[in-house]
Amino acid sequence: MSQEQQAVARARKAFETGRSRSLEYRIYQLRSLQQLFIERQKEISDAVKKDLNKSEVGTQLYETLGLEGEISLAIRKLKEWAAPRPVEKNLLTLSDTVYIQPEPLGVVLIIGAWNYPWAVTIQPLIGAIAAGNAAVVKPSEVSVHTAKVMEELLPLYIDKELYPVVNGGVKETQELLRQKFDHIVYTGNSTVAKVIMEAAAKHLTPVTLELGGKSPCYIDKNCDISVACRRVTWGKYTNCGQTCIAPDYILCDPSIQDRVIAEVKKSIKEFYTDNPKTCLDYGRIINQRHFKRIMNMLEGSTIAVGGDNDESDCYIAPTVLRDVKPEAKVMQEEIFGPLLPILPVSGLDEAIKFINKREKPLALYVFTQDDQVIKQIRDETSSGGLLANDCLVHFSVSSLPFGGVGNSGMGCYHGKFTFDELSHLRGCLIKKLNMEGVNSMRYPPHTLKKLGW
Ligand code: NAD
Repeated sequence: MSQEQQAVARARKAFETGRSRSLEYRIYQLRSLQQLFIERQKEISDAVKKDLNKSEVGTQLYETLGLEGEISLAIRKLKEWAAPRPVEKNLLTLSDTVYIQPEPLGVVLIIGAWNYPWAVTIQPLIGAIAAGNAAVVKPSEVSVHTAKVMEELLPLYIDKELYPVVNGGVKETQELLRQKFDHIVYTGNSTVAKVIMEAAAKHLTPVTLELGGKSPCYIDKNCDISVACRRVTWGKYTNCGQTCIAPDYILCDPSIQDRVIAEVKKSIKEFYTDNPKTCLDYGRIINQRHFKRIMNMLEGSTIAVGGDNDESDCYIAPTVLRDVKPEAKVMQEEIFGPLLPILPVSGLDEAIKFINKREKPLALYVFTQDDQVIKQIRDETSSGGLLANDCLVHFSVSSLPFGGVGNSGMGCYHGKFTFDELSHLRGCLIKKLNMEGVNSMRYPPHTLKKLGW
């Protein structure tokens, strides 16, 4: 048996013992996981620093604080989430007990990505534990230091049979995918997502696909451009643009383009100084392969701000591109790096047409003072999430479902949504054996007399 097969078999066997079903055990595991984040912050941030040059505060802000919040919420709400949910009855079932009972699915496979390597891998795990499942955790091999630390630390805190960590690249992931799971949560790109879905189809395994894409950002003329650009600059260059919901490109009226460029430039300086390369808060591209991919995208575009780079250090300065054409290289795929193209459009209608001609994005951003503009964008487009006058923060709201639509993903998670996504919502109807007379009209022979007609 391969290592991957063994890990899945052990998790299945542990699940079959039934211990993950008890709410006390789930809470005990969640508390232990919480403890990991309290006690091992240093190892966690050191690893993320090596992977992505994130500062310690950055790792806390963008990765572990959110996870701690999700764990606390699950601990606080578990009893309520796991309880039977009574539903409306019909005439025939008035005297019965009718409810939805969430139940564990079994063994879940969690395949993480590298850009927020803790957040995107552990967040589904929290829901898997809360919902009473076993889970095999496969961190991204690209964030190599984090993957190693995760493999070392998780078994020290949580049940290592129920929640094993399996490290490895494509070969190991594909071996995992040959095994039977009861659910797969995959975070990554849309191309690999098709491989995942194909493998899942062989076992009829349901999938949650947390993907990416080009998230548009429309800046309306009627708007505080200075504030808008400050927020966009934050959303774009945090983690060096390697954020699934980073605003990918800006659409705006040509008359405000120069102002937008000047304001983004001003905010870059405010956040990352005149020399972002030496600024503690400015990250690095994950590896040279991605560095080259991003640099290639610059071909044929006019740089308005930034453009400096250093391959040996995987450094690309915060960069703004002006007068970008839809056919430009940078507009053909998700950038996932610190390049911000600006595409002039004649107004809201053209922006909406532009957005609707492309794949449905994971996030859609609109900056405007005018509520009608927000309403029109909301009603005439589709995206995983919609955010007006800010960037990224919807990710932190546990009561909002987080997920894509179409090419940006399927299924959703965060808070109770993860619990529900990783549970089977079982419809239950409990009848008593008395009152048989009420049923007589449904039994043959079916005569009009019986129906009283
Ligand atoms: P990645 O290269 O780390 O791949 C993700 C996972 O897929 C890894 O665990 C990897 O081992 C596995 N994998 C890669 N190739 C495989 C193959 N051929 N067969 C089986 N498994 C394979 O990450 P990535 O794809 O570069 O991640 C970036 C993408 O993820 C972006 O598109 C980004 O927008 C998206 N993303 C989405 C979210 C979200 O929550 N929606 C969060 C983070 C990243």
